[in-house]
Amino acid sequence: METHVMQTLQSGALYRNTIENLEAAGNLINLNPNVLERLKVPRRALVVSVPVRMDDDRVQMFTGYRVQHNQTLGPFKGGIRFHPHVNLSEVAALSALMTFKNSLLNLPLGGAKGGIQVDPSTLSKTELESLTRRFTSEIGPFIGPDKDIPAPDVGTDSQTMAWMLDTYSMESGYAQTGVVTGKPIEIGGSRGRDSATGLGVVYTIEKALQSKNMMISDANIAIQGFGKVGMHAAIEAYALGARIVAVSDVTGGIYNERGINIADLVSYVKENRFVKNFPGTAAISNEDLLELNVDVLAPCALDGVITEKNCECIKAKIVAEGANGPTNSVANKYLHEKGVLVVPDILANGGGVVVSYFEWVQDIVWLFWKEDEVRNKLREIMYRSFDKVWQFSQEKNKDMRISAMAVSLQRLETAMKLRGQAW
Ligand code: GLU
Repeated sequence: METHVMQTLQSGALYRNTIENLEAAGNLINLNPNVLERLKVPRRALVVSVPVRMDDDRVQMFTGYRVQHNQTLGPFKGGIRFHPHVNLSEVAALSALMTFKNSLLNLPLGGAKGGIQVDPSTLSKTELESLTRRFTSEIGPFIGPDKDIPAPDVGTDSQTMAWMLDTYSMESGYAQTGVVTGKPIEIGGSRGRDSATGLGVVYTIEKALQSKNMMISDANIAIQGFGKVGMHAAIEAYALGARIVAVSDVTGGIYNERGINIADLVSYVKENRFVKNFPGTAAISNEDLLELNVDVLAPCALDGVITEKNCECIKAKIVAEGANGPTNSVANKYLHEKGVLVVPDILANGGGVVVSYFEWVQDIVWLFWKEDEVRNKLREIMYRSFDKVWQFSQEKNKDMRISAMAVSLQRLETAMKLRGQAW
């Protein structure tokens, strides 16, 4: 039955794309139809109104969401996004992607996502803190260290997590550091969490290049986005000797075919906020960056940037999806047929939630690991997950996206059968 809620969920392209991929992978592995039906919709979706007293004393209302998709494998887990485009359909799609990501990476976690429709750059720090605290309070009854554990996503960071932790702990009456991950190290965060998603992207790039008999030290890379994911991907790839020829942020990109000095760029961005006008580079638009003739293209910003409109112009040999949902189904199919290796989001950007999982474990035992330990364990999981997906794709002659989804669904199906959820 086409309910109003179903219509709302299906109104977004990312949701429709995600369900399409789910159905395609489900058909490929003869997934139990009851499992498929359950995974097409989130378990629970919470919509909250968040009042904030703004600096000018006016009360402004914001809309926030927490969508809990599935908890067969463990507590719900996934980030909180602050962005003007946040809506129920997008958050629901992203929550489903978290379920598939966590299952693929073999983590004992379910999938969720949250967000607030807001442009955080237009708010003062006090307003942002009030917004975060009130939102946490509103979703408070539904989250918790063994229920649902938020983390940073687009537009949020370790400070956001610190406020969430504090609000949640105040309301429970004692410190509950495990309620969020991606928090500062001083209050229970993990070493290596900040760079985890970017580092994970680079580990999968290494593997993807290997499959084409190439090494990262010989590769040209273009990265869209220079935030939590893109900047760290650039730092890690640069440290391994890759030539980063272009990077970008919301204000546009920079390009130098001989490579950009990423260490200098990081200092420059600390002072100037944006990458534009970095000495020794030419300006390039976000759209043109995607079409550069490079070995690897890493879209590490938002979803829906590679579509039927521009896929024919993509020249990269490998696309590593640091963002969630950057390539739509039509573009994915076209690129695969052209021989471009697309490393899908649930694999390529999984490093963030892997180290979130490490952080959660460290908070439970109150014993903290060295950065090397975190990186080594992360590398092991990323390599192993890549190999599993690669092997499936070779055996079945399928693209990496459907293969990643299929590997993920196989684990979910077994767990759902064992728990008696797939009558
Ligand atoms: N927001 C990140 C993601 O999309 C991290 C989620 C988490 O660590 O829970 O994977």
